[in-house]
Parts: sequence; structure tokens; C-alpha cells
Amino acid sequence: MSDRLIHGLSANKEIRFIAAYTKDTVEEARKIHNTSPLCSAALGRLLTAGAMMGSMCKSEEDLITLKIDGDGPIRQMTVSADPQAKVKGLMYDPSVELPLKANGHLDVGGGIGAGMLTVMKDLGLKESYTGQTPLTSGEIGDDLTYYFATSEQTPSAVGLGVLVDTDGSIKHAGGFIIQLLPFASEETISMLEKTLAGMSSVTDHFAAGESLEEFMKALLGDIGVEGELTPEYHCNCDRDRVTKALISLGRDELDKMIAEGKPVTLHCDFCNKDYTFETDEITDLLRTGHAGID
Ligand SMILES: [Zn+2]
Repeated sequence: MSDRLIHGLSANKEIRFIAAYTKDTVEEARKIHNTSPLCSAALGRLLTAGAMMGSMCKSEEDLITLKIDGDGPIRQMTVSADPQAKVKGLMYDPSVELPLKANGHLDVGGGIGAGMLTVMKDLGLKESYTGQTPLTSGEIGDDLTYYFATSEQTPSAVGLGVLVDTDGSIKHAGGFIIQLLPFASEETISMLEKTLAGMSSVTDHFAAGESLEEFMKALLGDIGVEGELTPEYHCNCDRDRVTKALISLGRDELDKMIAEGKPVTLHCDFCNKDYTFETDEITDLLRTGHAGID
């Protein structure tokens, strides 16, 4: 199954759902960051959540950033996503490994530890919004469930899963966000609670060959799909943006670079791309009085 994301309504439109399959997206992140199996699972879960939360944005200019700061060895992860479910991410140390948990699963909660989840939304150029909640387990799905309940006052269930193959590649990845709409009936609420309490892991559903529609039907019964997107690992850096970052270092820094007479390389941490500037180019930036330099 290739990566896709669906969203829609269920239970007399009392429930909103988003479901995503993100194997290729997480595999791309693994190749870029050379993540250990534990870090593939941790970053993969956050990327999947990012793709789904990006797709919930209302306007095309919106951007969402999820940041996790924990006291475990993974320490820090950041993911950004746009409304088209294009995501990018990075982590402090992608090589962290821990012993498997007693149930044979990767110990994402142990890798992240206790700390904070921060959700930043850039709504076009006008507004931004930041919500922050403590991590409840560091397993990310639970942490986002808690975030939605306390910071956005929306009762939600978030399930995320990444299954890493024996060779370290990604076998399955994906997740769901299910939200109760304000007028949900008691029956709908208790149906959902029962289903979630009895459900197997997200990756079990994919390993059984279920499509996203089948997965959501298994959880919610009848569903009405309202839209579909293709999640993708995508970095929006380009030479123009990097040039602006170089200029923003200021005249003194650029003069120093020119005096050293060596090419300067700037690195994009999200996609591992290098941008090299020859001394002549830096001199030109100064000489042409490029915007921002005074
Ligand atoms: Zn980049």
C-alpha cells in the first residue's frame, strides 16, 4: 500500500476521523537521518501525527510544528507539516537504542521520558498559536490524546504505530486521530470507548492487510470519507531561503568569511542537503547590497 491519508465523518456525523498510512514517508526520514529502529519508531510516530494534524489546518498557508522535549536519551524531536500532509522532521540524536520492552515493542516512551509536547500553529501570516502539555507516557499517541483533551478541549483518541523490519527498514507505519464532535451522544461515546479499549495495535491492522477504509470501519462501523491526501516527506529548503539565512548572519560575519577566502557550506538539518557558497558569491551578496544588509 502506498502512503495515503483519508478523513471523514462517522456515527451520524458525531465523530470525525483521520487515518494515514505513512510507510514511505517514515522510510524516507529513516534514510535521511539514518535513524536507529527506536528512533525510526519515535520520529515516525511524530511524522505521522504531523501529517494528520497538518491536514486538519483550514487554510493553505497554515503550518503546524510538533515539538517533543523529554529527559530520555532521545531528548528532542521536531516535526513540521503543511495542510497537504507534507512533513519534515529532525531529532537530537537519531542513533539512540534501548532494550525492547517486555512485550517485544520498541521502548519509545523510555527513549523520550518525561517532558513537554509543544504544538505551534502558524495560521497564515497573521496569527500564531502555541499549546503546550506535559508528556503523559512519551509514547506520543497518548501524549497527543492528552494534548487534544486539555489544550484544544476536544475529546480525541490518537493511535500511532511504526513497525520496523529486521533489516531496520520500515515495514508499516501509520495512525489515526478520532475526535468526538461537541454534540456526540452518550451511545456514540460509549461505543467508541469500548472499541478503543479492545483494539489491537495500529500496525497489526496494516499487517493484516487492511486498507485505511477497512481499518476505520473496523473501529467505527459506517464511515463517510470526505477527502484524501498523499503524505510525503518534503523539505521546502532551496538556495533562495539558504541565501537569506546567510545574509541574516550580518555584514561582519560575511566579511570574515570573505577574508578567510574559503567556500562556505550551509547544511539543512531536515533533508541533509548542503548549500555551498564560493567567496565570490558572498562578495557579490555584499556588493549588490542584497536586501537585509546595511
Ligand atoms: Zn532541506
